[in-house]
Amino acid sequence: MLGSSGLHHVTAIAGDPRRNLRFYSDVVGLRFVKKTVNFDDPGTYHFYFGDAVGSPGSILTFFPWANAAPGRIGAGETHETAFAVPTGALDAWEMRLAELGVEAGVVTERFGHRVLPFRDPDGMRLSLVEGEAGEGVTPWEGVDGLKGDIAVAGFAGVTLGVADPARTAAVLTDVFGWTNTAVDGGRRRFEAPGGGAGRFVDLVAVDAAPGRLGAGSVHHIAFRAASDADQAAMVKRLRETLGLQATPQKDRNYFRSVYFREPGGVLFEIATDDPGFAIDEPVATLGERLMLPAQYEAQRERIEAVLPALG
Ligand code: ZN
Repeated sequence: MLGSSGLHHVTAIAGDPRRNLRFYSDVVGLRFVKKTVNFDDPGTYHFYFGDAVGSPGSILTFFPWANAAPGRIGAGETHETAFAVPTGALDAWEMRLAELGVEAGVVTERFGHRVLPFRDPDGMRLSLVEGEAGEGVTPWEGVDGLKGDIAVAGFAGVTLGVADPARTAAVLTDVFGWTNTAVDGGRRRFEAPGGGAGRFVDLVAVDAAPGRLGAGSVHHIAFRAASDADQAAMVKRLRETLGLQATPQKDRNYFRSVYFREPGGVLFEIATDDPGFAIDEPVATLGERLMLPAQYEAQRERIEAVLPALG
C-alpha cells in the first residue's frame, strides 16, 4: 500500500514574528530554512524551521501575526508537538531552558522514553523526547551549546486531542497505512512504517469544546507523500473508504499539497517530499533572503515594505 512514511511538517500560528524567530532559532536551535510569505496573504510572513537541510519530518512552520489573539486549546486539535533529542540529552535541556527563562514542566516517561514538556512564547505546547529520533534527519549544529549529542533531530511526533479517537485512527491506518503499536494509559500510539522522523501520532480522547485557533495553536499537520502518485492513492482511499474529500492539489513551491479535515476536526495535509527547500536558494544560505513565489516576485518591493522588520 502506498502510504505515508511520517509527518512532513507542522504549521502553527504565532504572535510577534521577531520573538518567534528568536525562540526557534536561538533557544530550540532549529535552522531557519525558509523566510517567505503566506501565499494566501502575502503581506504576512510564513517561517519554516527545520534540520540542517530542511528534511521532511523536521519542518515546523509558522504564520506569525503580530496581533493574533491567543488560541484556546480544545477538541479537534494538535495538543503537543514533540521534538526528538538523543538519549541522555534532557538534563542539559532542562538546564538550558531554565537558564533561558523558558516555561517548562517536569520530565515524565511515555512509552518508556523520557519526555520534557515546555512552551514557546505564545504558549504552544512542545516537548523534547529522548531516544525517538528517526532516520533521514541532519541535526542543525549552528547554535552554541547544541551539538549532535543534544540538538533536536526532527520531530518525534504529535499528540492529537479528539472527541472520538477511533474515527481519527481510521485515517491513520486505512489511508496512511500506519499501525497502532502501543497504548499508554489514555494515549494510543500510531506509527508510520519505515523508521523515519516524525513517525508517531498519539491520540488522546478529549471531552471538551472545540479549540479556538490563535497564537500558540497548531493550524494543521502535514503527512509525507513520496510522489504525486502516492498522494493521489491516499486521496482515493480517503474518498473510497471513509467518504472524505480532499482539496485539489495546491502548489506550495517547496511541496505540492492537498488538505482535508479528519473526522475528529484536525486539519490534515498530504505534502510531497519534492521539490524541497533548495528549489529556490542554495542549502548553504537557506533562510537568509526573503523568498517569494513567482506570482509575487514583481511585487517584492511593496511586500518587503509592509512586512515587519526582523533585525
Ligand atoms: Zn502545510
